Amino acid sequence: MSDALLAPPAVDVLPESAGIALEHDFADRLPELSVPWRAFHPEEPRLLVWNDALAEELGIDSGRFTGSARVRFLLGNALPQGSGPVAQAYAGHQFGGYSPRLGDGRALLLGEMRDSSGRLRDLHLKGSGRTPFARADGFAALGPMLREYLMGEAMAALGVPTTRALGVVATGRRMPRDGELLDGAVLARVASSHLRVGSFQFARGLSDPGALTRLADYAIERHAPELAEAPNRYAALLDAVIAAQARLVAHWVLIGFVHGVMNTDNMTISGETIDYGPCAFIDAFDPAASFSSIDLQRRYAYGNQPSIALWNLTRFAETLLPLLDPDVDVAKSMAVSSLDRFGALYNDAWTAGMREKLGLAGSASHASGDDGAFAELTAEMLTDLQRHRIDYTSFFRALGRAAEGDLGPLDAVLPRTDGSGAWVQRWLDAGPDAAAMDRMNPIYIPRNHLVEEALAAADEGDLAPFSSLVDVLSRPFEEQAGRERYERPAPEGGPAHVTFCGT
Ligand code: AMP
Ligand code: MG
Repeated sequence: MSDALLAPPAVDVLPESAGIALEHDFADRLPELSVPWRAFHPEEPRLLVWNDALAEELGIDSGRFTGSARVRFLLGNALPQGSGPVAQAYAGHQFGGYSPRLGDGRALLLGEMRDSSGRLRDLHLKGSGRTPFARADGFAALGPMLREYLMGEAMAALGVPTTRALGVVATGRRMPRDGELLDGAVLARVASSHLRVGSFQFARGLSDPGALTRLADYAIERHAPELAEAPNRYAALLDAVIAAQARLVAHWVLIGFVHGVMNTDNMTISGETIDYGPCAFIDAFDPAASFSSIDLQRRYAYGNQPSIALWNLTRFAETLLPLLDPDVDVAKSMAVSSLDRFGALYNDAWTAGMREKLGLAGSASHASGDDGAFAELTAEMLTDLQRHRIDYTSFFRALGRAAEGDLGPLDAVLPRTDGSGAWVQRWLDAGPDAAAMDRMNPIYIPRNHLVEEALAAADEGDLAPFSSLVDVLSRPFEEQAGRERYERPAPEGGPAHVTFCGT
């Protein structure tokens, strides 16, 4: 693929002394899945955030790699010798409708870096200008890029597999959005890869069937090298992706996370959370919770996430059919039996996580250790949470206090009348481990009103609230003195939280 005539100006070469090495493995191995491209050059860029911890993982010496070299690297304007940035091609089902050609419209894969443990990690930009896949101006607004940075850090600290951002640079360029002029920004994001279900959908649509095979082999190499020798490695890949997504989505549901736009182009093969657009954490427990301005049907609501994951995985399995078996009927029945395991994998992951949240992971011998009894107990608990609109996150910390013998915080949110709370004594009788609960149940999550407050201040040029929030969220399980306001849900009666897509 090539649109060389439209490409923006050349990239400068970073001196070797910068100590940065970028590979171009994906671009070399799967040329039909990308277009060589370059980032635009903003005139007055300004570094807003740099992720020291992630830089260290990538072997970057933050003390030495400073100033304009760092900024121009984060913009894709100065890269190591021999780099070959590309815009990646992918397809995708968006809200159920199929687009055969989506791709990086305003994003670029700069290449891969080898991290300190020897793994390849993608370095990818968002907001870096129009590419041949562009559907709009190619830019990204500062607020959503800071939001993605913050959400990725929060999820990582909560122990959820996720992409993370290395930095955010303000471009100094203003751009129109919804009748306003907003500041533009570029986000540099690190992922264990950007292979998506949509990448496989795109490859399946190519006339060369070899591309799909190469993509599947590449995915195995990057994410599950131990499967290379499996009797049917493509069936093993399908099973591995199903298992990784079952675990991921169970984790989301356990912490109250709503991704908001689970299109097949936003579902990774690695099992990392990707593309923080209209995502949010629930306050009150509600399976119908949905925060996206464009998801009017609530397709991607909190409680729908497991079934949507299975729907997306079914699209993934369809792309793999020709690789599973030459006989299409055999291939289909293999896919169906793999997909049939999703439900149990999801339930096992959710149940194991919920046992930990309730402090019962280590106690299988008593009544609540029995799977049926545990399922009944959690069903009653969730019914109570929903009926009384109880804040999901702080509820589990209140349970932790109850496990220590102080029922005050629990009684303050859960009335024990009209049959509510009948499960509490059964749970206490099972002997929950309060300290284990506090290691599993976060005090601090990215509360929607706090995120909005931090982004509004950043828009006015004040990054202090953003930095404080990122700092609080980096230690979500640890009581932080003087930071009580970060624990609390939004005041009742405030405006409903809505997030907007595609900005
Ligand atoms: P999304 O709605 O973010 O999933 O994007 C759908 C498609 O539109 C993808 O191919 C994006 O790369 C592209 N796209 C989204 N926003 C922009 C933009 N501001 N400029 C160019 N392309 C965009
Ligand atoms: Mg996306």
